Amino acid sequence: MSFATRFAPSPTGYLHRGHAFSALTAFRAAREAGGRFVLRIEDIDATRSRPEYEAAILEDLAWLGLDWEQPVRRQSEHLADYHAAIETLRERGLVYRCFKTRKELDIGRAPHEPAVPYRGAPLPARQEAERLARGEAFAWRLSLDAAERALGGFSNLAFVEEGAGPDGETGLIQARPETAGDIVLARKDVGVAYHLAVVLDDALQGITHVIRGVDLFEAAHIQRLLQALLDLPTPTYRHHGLLVGPDGKRYAKRDKAQTLRELRAAGVTPGALRAEMGV
Ligand code: GLU
Repeated sequence: MSFATRFAPSPTGYLHRGHAFSALTAFRAAREAGGRFVLRIEDIDATRSRPEYEAAILEDLAWLGLDWEQPVRRQSEHLADYHAAIETLRERGLVYRCFKTRKELDIGRAPHEPAVPYRGAPLPARQEAERLARGEAFAWRLSLDAAERALGGFSNLAFVEEGAGPDGETGLIQARPETAGDIVLARKDVGVAYHLAVVLDDALQGITHVIRGVDLFEAAHIQRLLQALLDLPTPTYRHHGLLVGPDGKRYAKRDKAQTLRELRAAGVTPGALRAEMGV
């Protein structure tokens, strides 16, 4: 399969330098390999995504000098496909309804302690029916126990890392999906969780190389498991380091890092920005 990579932003804010670095890194890799570059809008979280951010993303990336395949896939237009995949997993007994609230899951945990990965099981049928009848909210969780049984363990789950994880992990990596616990695949407010939509779309769009920031390295472990369960190909991963500012801290949306639009308004040119970032 010929090389294909993607940039997959969530339109929950304006792009900043860190996004520019990631998008340019992927774009350049595609160019060098003579392959495809795909832009995917990951707007499944309707509570946080906004059309004006999406419009700004397209504008900022074009300003940076990128171009991408058309049409752009917008995840919110394909929710039925993601739900169909959850249904398939449900028929195979791989997901279960979890009625626990975040508060219940946190009972006994001191604020400074990390959340313990949750592993649960379906409720007895009668109890579940009662809670459903009462209209209680629930999440669909992926059962690690059921997944382990279905795959005969996780020892065959590996992926190739051409970049590096946070501890320098590189080469053939053994996936450890169990460290995340039984992940939530769908919730009432956010219909589909990010991991499921990503693995389905990467496969559908023929992505051979996932190039993204190292902050998403742990996601690869979970995504590898979903690929195995859904019989999807595993792309090669290339996690890159995060861009740091002059203060040595990484740029992030929540720190109100300077956005590309602010840089543009201040007269910074795409060429100057690329030179500064070395991409
Ligand atoms: N949509 C995700 C984000 O904005 C990135 C997904 C990915 O690259 O796998 O953080």
